[in-house]
Amino acid sequence: MENFTRRNFIGKAFKLLTGAAVIGMIPNSAEARIDPRKIGELRETPLSQVETKNLSPFDLPRIPKFQTLDELEIASPHLKFVDSMTLRKYTTAIVVHHAGMTRNEDMSLGAIHQIHLNNGWAGVGYHFVVHKNGVIEHARPIERVGAHAYKHNRYTVGICMTGNFDIGVPSYEQSLATEKLVVALCDHYEIVPSYDTIFGHRDLCDTSCPGQNFYLRMPELIQNVGEVLNRG
Ligand SMILES: [Zn+2]
Repeated sequence: MENFTRRNFIGKAFKLLTGAAVIGMIPNSAEARIDPRKIGELRETPLSQVETKNLSPFDLPRIPKFQTLDELEIASPHLKFVDSMTLRKYTTAIVVHHAGMTRNEDMSLGAIHQIHLNNGWAGVGYHFVVHKNGVIEHARPIERVGAHAYKHNRYTVGICMTGNFDIGVPSYEQSLATEKLVVALCDHYEIVPSYDTIFGHRDLCDTSCPGQNFYLRMPELIQNVGEVLNRG
């Protein structure tokens, strides 16, 4: 029922955003021409082809306090992009991803950047990467249109958690850092957390991302984020 409702919403939202989508089709960068199947994932797996291993469930940590984007500790490694990328005109939603590699292991932002460059993109398609040890890194400049959720990049910010949550679960530190980042982004962009504003990639595209084990925790994520924002 929940999926049905969300799909309905997405259908409506898509119609409303048709204007933006048309603008998005103008081929002003290599990314406009890339294969949609390849967008946004290091290893894109259609949802229908995924074999989820049912692992022990985990709870998301409770977020101890509200922190703004400026207050959060976020590393800013120097990355070279091949073009300047389009400015995003508005930001109304957040998309959570997993890296989706063969193993549920950490990987460097540099490696993700290189894989996306090899796809012919401007560089890493996500705006943030959250590592297993809880370190958050800036990836693609936050104000630029990302390359992480086909047809939904014009209005979203993309967060990638390293690992594969179809076969594993995130660490405590990684979950907490992701929650804190979502809180800070909601605050920054004045996004009210809900099923209509905080998405797992699979809500928008045919992919298993962010992995079944994390996707099952998305309602909890939205709830935890809402609580912290209301607490202030
Ligand atoms: Zn994804």
